Amino acid sequence: MLITLNKSADPKEVQRRLYRLGLWSQALAPRTEGGAASLLVAPHSATIDPERIARVQGVAEVSVPKSPHPRVDELARRGHAINDQVSIGGDLPPVLMAGPCSVESEETAFESARIAKRAGAQIMRGGAFKPRTSPYSFQGAGREALGWLRAAADAEGLGVVTEVMSEHEVEAVGEVADLMQIGSRNMQNYALLRAVGQLHKPVLLKRGMAATIDEWLQAGEHCMAAGASVVIFCERGIHSFDPSTRNLLDLSAVALLRHAYGLPVVADPSHATGRKDLVVPLAHAALAAGAHGLLVEAHPDPAEALSDGPQALDPDQLIALGQKAFPS
Ligand code: PEP
Ligand code: MN
Repeated sequence: MLITLNKSADPKEVQRRLYRLGLWSQALAPRTEGGAASLLVAPHSATIDPERIARVQGVAEVSVPKSPHPRVDELARRGHAINDQVSIGGDLPPVLMAGPCSVESEETAFESARIAKRAGAQIMRGGAFKPRTSPYSFQGAGREALGWLRAAADAEGLGVVTEVMSEHEVEAVGEVADLMQIGSRNMQNYALLRAVGQLHKPVLLKRGMAATIDEWLQAGEHCMAAGASVVIFCERGIHSFDPSTRNLLDLSAVALLRHAYGLPVVADPSHATGRKDLVVPLAHAALAAGAHGLLVEAHPDPAEALSDGPQALDPDQLIALGQKAFPS
């Protein structure tokens, strides 16, 4: 952001006024002799409405660079309907989305829905199509699992979030999902983002494990430009140099999206840590950082889970987390 000053203004004095608003700036000499000085606002300054800056004494003009994600920006600071019952964002209370990593059978789906409901979840999660690092791991039960997931969620009055992995499955997933999940590995699969956006439904966009925040927001812009009704951003941990936890949960990103940009953002402490003993503390930390909700993996019997068992909360742990962090 570039701020042009009145010719008579003292740049140092204006800088002090801006600093009181949370803005750091660098003074640029006038471009012509006797011309007005300008101030360049540093990138890590507070996010302040340019109209407010324009009213600061000594400021002549504020020029804001065009945002590369104008439709995402319009989502800021208000709630967004996911279905008739659930809305996410703004100052709304946080939403719990919980369920197994993968929907393994009809029976475990119904059991998982009962547990999620008891924990106070409003949305059930569970993958029918699983993006697994190894081709020899369980790849998900496929289309049949979509039906189990919807029926189980309906039995408990829950919404459904489930991942769509390829363009071929967009329609089938769209028939059951209230919230279309795009996984970390697909965050920059622009053809998929467009195809999902064209359904005009809400999208849960996971952050790529090595994606910058700007790349993440621009991926959201792809969904919005194609027609998505809203994009809920999901921080799920990024790759770091340290292998001690599965990923590094970037709570700075959660706080930045919530507090500086006002965008709808949730956190997934399960894929971030990869181990169940860290899921609960990071769930609380994410809410403290401003998350509008959590996406948490839980399984009726984690020891028997076909995917991500080590990070799945057992029923009692999920219910305890729900009662503490999402009191009704
Ligand atoms: C998931 O939530 O099921 C999943 C595979 O997560 P991610 O895309 O974050 O790895
Ligand atoms: Mn998983």
